[in-house]
Amino acid sequence: MGLADLHIHSIHSYDGTSTIPAILKHVSDNTDLDMIAITDHDSMEGVKQAEELAPLYGLNVIPGCEVTSAQGHVLALFIKNRIPTGLSLIDTLLLIGEQGGLAVAAHPEARGTSSLTYKDIQEACNHPFASQILVGVEAFNGGLVYTRSNIPAAVESNNLPLACLGNSDAHILSMIGQGATYYPGGSVMDLRLALKQRQTRVVMNKNLGGMQVLTSYIPRYLLRMLGWAVWNENPAKPLKYARINTLSPRPNNHVGRLLHQMIFEY
Ligand SMILES: [Zn+2]
Ligand SMILES: [Zn+2]
Repeated sequence: MGLADLHIHSIHSYDGTSTIPAILKHVSDNTDLDMIAITDHDSMEGVKQAEELAPLYGLNVIPGCEVTSAQGHVLALFIKNRIPTGLSLIDTLLLIGEQGGLAVAAHPEARGTSSLTYKDIQEACNHPFASQILVGVEAFNGGLVYTRSNIPAAVESNNLPLACLGNSDAHILSMIGQGATYYPGGSVMDLRLALKQRQTRVVMNKNLGGMQVLTSYIPRYLLRMLGWAVWNENPAKPLKYARINTLSPRPNNHVGRLLHQMIFEY
């Protein structure tokens, strides 16, 4: 059995707080995960580094991206190039498919974040081509502030003809693996097959309350806005904070945009 967390954000998301080496170090030292996907918001800037460094940390990394479609967030996995933002769900899925990728509906109908409805997902499942690309749905998302959204997700997702996944949607290290997915085998190809054949099992490791998610996250987010993030020099060295000079794509939500303007532009 392999264990994967296929929804993790790095500093290449405007709201991520950890560098790629820090994520790899944390996963390797502190979790049972053997497979992760880096899925930054509309960015694949961290993917190449993650793929290059992963063998040093004994991990497999799936290239990915959390695409903001016009209808809500979609995880694009096994892709090579960024998918444009703001397209319809069907067009987004078809572009993912053109690259040989597979898609997962992120946090369906979750409050407080841009999410697909179950109706959107069902329509994609009925589409002759898009249904070949959309293979999974997050039945559990460990990063939600409004954690109650996971209750209908667990029920509704089981009624869909899709693989059910648990993911963390981690924006800080300590949340990685809070949601995860078991799949038969352990290789990248095994995971791909399990998603297509709906042979996955959801893992809910622990569910921090929404307030705990926020209180753990906010100080790290503020540090990141000031240019500091968790970093790791190499697998033998400990994690530490370091100055980063990467500015990720501009925030697409109101609070993030406001903070971004306050800190970087004034
Ligand atoms: Zn999302
Ligand atoms: Zn996310």
